[in-house]
Amino acid sequence: MGYVWMIVPILPALAAVLIGASLLSILVSIIPRISSITQPQTAQNAITPIIGEVFGLYGLAIFMFYVVLLIGALAFYYMIDRRNRHFVRQRSLFSTLQRYLALKAPYSESVSRLGYIAEDSGCDERDRPAGVWAVLFLFVTPIVGLLAAYNLTQDLRRHEDAQSVYQTTLTNAFSDAGIQLPSFSPFKFHRREPFLFIILSAITVGLFWIYWFYTLLKDYNEHFSDQARFEDQILDSQRPPEATKLCGSCGATIPRSAKFCPICGKPQTI
Ligand SMILES: [Zn+2]
Ligand SMILES: [Zn+2]
Repeated sequence: MGYVWMIVPILPALAAVLIGASLLSILVSIIPRISSITQPQTAQNAITPIIGEVFGLYGLAIFMFYVVLLIGALAFYYMIDRRNRHFVRQRSLFSTLQRYLALKAPYSESVSRLGYIAEDSGCDERDRPAGVWAVLFLFVTPIVGLLAAYNLTQDLRRHEDAQSVYQTTLTNAFSDAGIQLPSFSPFKFHRREPFLFIILSAITVGLFWIYWFYTLLKDYNEHFSDQARFEDQILDSQRPPEATKLCGSCGATIPRSAKFCPICGKPQTI
């Protein structure tokens, strides 16, 4: 998800400042108009536009309120939905790898442990109903927003812990099956304390919430790219090594199918 979603925590703050400032400027403009009142008719002439301005501002406030709610609900829907899709995809990768390794090394303890981890993650990482959360957000915004953020932060933390155990077990299982995996580039751990984040958001009257929301976008984005790299490394390790030949011109080792040498550029006779 792009960082454009940062409008979710920032927009309410901007709206509050905008509406507060407008209200203040209306109040300030009242003073000279009131002091110029000398007769009853001029009093009416002075007050009518003020009432209009206040109502206009009230309408704007209501409008901003619903815009903020809708964008927030949409953001939480996408966040929870992509979390669900990632966990489902992860589980199916787990079970595919486990079945594959069980054929190659049926008596390996690590391979059966992979099965347990997959089962565990199936229990711990149930889908969260994204639509229900989004709709609830429209009605009980602050509570549902905090709860959703709490769950998302906690879920990623648990998921990353499980992932790190899984990687070790997977490497052992592959080695029991006679396949040496490359050492994985380590996952980045995002050890956020969601409970502390709730307290900090309350103490700072929502200012910390802006940072929290940012971490939700950033941490998940980072995790997904780590995960993609991890999957690529597994797939690469399963690819048969490409057939090679020597370049007739410079002697470099090049792919057998190459029509030109990537080193010296000379055409190759096949
Ligand atoms: Zn993951
Ligand atoms: Zn060459």
